Amino acid sequence: MGQRDVLAVGGNIKLGRDLRDKGERMNKPQPITINPSTPWLPPGILAGGSRVHRFTFSVGERRVFRKKAKIPVSEWVEKHRYVTMSALPGLWRNEITPYLSGIMDASFHPAVQTVIVCKAPQVGCTEAVLNCIGYAADRDPGPVLMVYPDEKTAKENSQDRIQPMLDASPRLRSLMTGMDDDKASLRIKLKHMIMYMAWATSASRLSNKPIRYVGLDELDKYPKTAGKREASPEALAEIRTITYRWSRKIWKLSTPTIETGPIWKALTTEAQVIFDYWVECPLCGEMQLMRFSRETFRWPRDGQNSDTNDQNPDTQAHSLDPEEIEAKGLAWYECEHCHGRWNDTLRDQAARAGQWRERATGIELSTYLNEHRPRKIGFHVPAWISYFISLSEVAAAFLKSQHSLEDFKNFKNKYEAVPWKQIVVSADEGHILKARCELPAQTVPPEARALMCGLDVQKYGFWFVVRAFAADYTSWLVHYGYLAKWDDVEQLLFETAYPVGNPDSGNTMRIFRACIDTGGGQKYTGMSSTEETYWWLRDNGTGRGARVWGTKGSSRALAGKLQLGKPLDKTPSGKPLPGGLRIISVDTEKMKDAYHYHLARAIDDLPQGAYLHAATGADYADQILAEEKQITEKGIEEWVQIRTDNHLLDCECLALLCADPEFPGGGINILAAELQRQKSGGNRRRIISKGIG
Ligand SMILES: [Zn+2]
Repeated sequence: MGQRDVLAVGGNIKLGRDLRDKGERMNKPQPITINPSTPWLPPGILAGGSRVHRFTFSVGERRVFRKKAKIPVSEWVEKHRYVTMSALPGLWRNEITPYLSGIMDASFHPAVQTVIVCKAPQVGCTEAVLNCIGYAADRDPGPVLMVYPDEKTAKENSQDRIQPMLDASPRLRSLMTGMDDDKASLRIKLKHMIMYMAWATSASRLSNKPIRYVGLDELDKYPKTAGKREASPEALAEIRTITYRWSRKIWKLSTPTIETGPIWKALTTEAQVIFDYWVECPLCGEMQLMRFSRETFRWPRDGQNSDTNDQNPDTQAHSLDPEEIEAKGLAWYECEHCHGRWNDTLRDQAARAGQWRERATGIELSTYLNEHRPRKIGFHVPAWISYFISLSEVAAAFLKSQHSLEDFKNFKNKYEAVPWKQIVVSADEGHILKARCELPAQTVPPEARALMCGLDVQKYGFWFVVRAFAADYTSWLVHYGYLAKWDDVEQLLFETAYPVGNPDSGNTMRIFRACIDTGGGQKYTGMSSTEETYWWLRDNGTGRGARVWGTKGSSRALAGKLQLGKPLDKTPSGKPLPGGLRIISVDTEKMKDAYHYHLARAIDDLPQGAYLHAATGADYADQILAEEKQITEKGIEEWVQIRTDNHLLDCECLALLCADPEFPGGGINILAAELQRQKSGGNRRRIISKGIG
């Protein structure tokens, strides 16, 4: 008999339930009695009155039916999960990433079906979901679907993470069929269940199999729809679980991008409840939620006693070099209760003693789950609770974020694990004018290193902006207005000398560089304004003082803010342009983002602010507000013109572009370094940018 089981016909129906419930006895033949009047039994069986029927359970089936003691995932992983792709390979240790235990265990709470994790990169959450899949394979099997942003990532995850996870663990290895065919990179067949890897655009792969476990990784990198007129990849994958609606588990993980991105939407609208990870201070024992602020994240400031609590944002931005802080590990975290200093080791200790708490009530995770039984739960995982990210890395990333919009987004998304808040400007000129400072119109502040000019060509004239830039990219509007003729443009660009600082000093500064938009319609019969601007640029762009560049708005997003075109040897109408002319393509969406970013910083009186001179009026603010950032039907954020006159906004973007490090020949950074060499040292920085309300 050995591995065969016996069905003894006659008696009550006990098939099915008995087999599963008494799985432990599956290795021995078990008599099962069935009532002979059972209508569905084949006549052949009934005819004999009583007979023995034999059938075989496969190894996999027996493994499935075998009853195992229920243990939490966090306990299972320390016995059966071997980590391969990690700085710390070997058997999984919860003490490295203590916050993952709660996420894993909550996933298998009977009430929970959807687990949403909004996280910084490198905190181990992807591995935590794989742990859950491994646990499911061993303890609670069902078809698995893992979805990644693209085919390459799907294959990489299968080959580099999932297959090694199965191979490395004796327990999981015993579930494999041993046939290479069953280890195809996008489909792994175990003895008793199957795992599919898919990617967001493979709609067909997502829509034909019933699935119990769905992992959606890097959700914010998915395209909006899986194909034409299809639902989102997220929705397609979720629909697959309907068969398992009472026992399904869905994991959604991602680093956030923008507020309308999928993971932030899931966390804030789909999750019924959000959990944060509280840590315990090893010095005073008080629990707290680690947060990024200048009171908690600390590092020595340049030329200051590191113990002083310096609140001046100006000196904060001029602290030590971020690279140095990171390389030397100079940052620490300050306990908000005892003000003791945590280094990375104490931070890790604090995390090991931590727990997840519900955001609104402060109730501990498992207590909350048992009391409220939510179906969809969310976790927020910032970078600084992770063993893999040093406090100094966080501090350095923050310092870098103060100097560029890209780094600012990076810090928000990848360290704070919050979306970068798109600066949607309120349609209120009063707000814009809060960026005004004490600087009189047409005066250059002493901090300025160069004057940049942006010009917008109109049918009957030119709008312009002149902006002064300091070495750190802080800037001041010096002059704006309208010019009627090319003569006026030439006078502005090549002859005007603005007084610097105190008019009595006699110091003046001229425009260093200018950009002029060459886009534009028909101006005269047979001569577009583009054509006219080309000719003017050819004669005046170089050699007359300020270097003047022609620009055009790019119809597509560029990798950076601008792209220098190939030399043009003909005008749009085909006339030869001897010597050629190179036009700069500008990513206007990025530049408008950048302008509003710097303007907002001026309003808050922060470094890198784009200030306005004292006499800036409502006429200026109106043009700046002529475009607003909107979310289109496709869910894409775009600058949309809502009033006709937006010219000064375009001019501001061009002036800002002139100072940008990406600009041909370098931006204010190069110029600042040059001036630094020429002048002797000494602190020349002085704040004149006090708001005037
Ligand atoms: Zn403390």
